[in-house]
Amino acid sequence: MATIFTFPCGGCGRRYSVYYPKALLYELSGSGTREMGEAEDAEDARSGAVDAARRRAEGAGNIWVNAADTQAMVCACGKRLDVNIAHHPRVPQSKSAGGGRQTGFVQFPSKTPPSGGGHGPHGSSES
Ligand SMILES: [Zn+2]
Repeated sequence: MATIFTFPCGGCGRRYSVYYPKALLYELSGSGTREMGEAEDAEDARSGAVDAARRRAEGAGNIWVNAADTQAMVCACGKRLDVNIAHHPRVPQSKSAGGGRQTGFVQFPSKTPPSGGGHGPHGSSES
């Protein structure tokens, strides 16, 4: 399953859907090897999961980004966007006793917008 996070630009509100290949995630999180990730990436690409996620993101008006291509982006409004997942630790570090340090890093489902229908960006300056 493809892993995608959405980053809203704090400057203009554009949303960026960033695809994180497993090879990159595994390497960053240490939960697996790059080789493992590459195998899963190939599977995602072959199954069309990445294309489907991309179409969904672009259909929602988001800008598609492959994190493997860029770790430093500048929005069209001039705001710098940090898409380095290592700088956005979303995995709660549970420090419960008993050890078992498991991170669910790659298990996030791709998020769908909570609003059901009725999407209509107002104030967009592009036409
Ligand atoms: Zn912006």
